[in-house]
Amino acid sequence: MPSKRKPYNDRAGYVASFRSGANGGWVVIYKAEEQGIDVDGCRYAVVCETHGTLCGSTSQKDARVLMKSVEFCEACESYPRNL
Ligand SMILES: [Zn+2]
Repeated sequence: MPSKRKPYNDRAGYVASFRSGANGGWVVIYKAEEQGIDVDGCRYAVVCETHGTLCGSTSQKDARVLMKSVEFCEACESYPRNL
């Protein structure tokens, strides 16, 4: 797999990113507290950078599943994807 640029990896609390959103948009996992995101006390926040939607996750494993499925973002879910 070719290496990809990681445009968000210098942000506070950055954990991981994946181009799983609509049109290859970035979806990024942050440590919620370090990024200053409030997701009901969840340790991790998964953010669709394209649409500004997010959801919380208590474990990094679950956060990665959400990052790849992007099921929390309705705009991405309703967008035809060809990944
Ligand atoms: Zn989205």
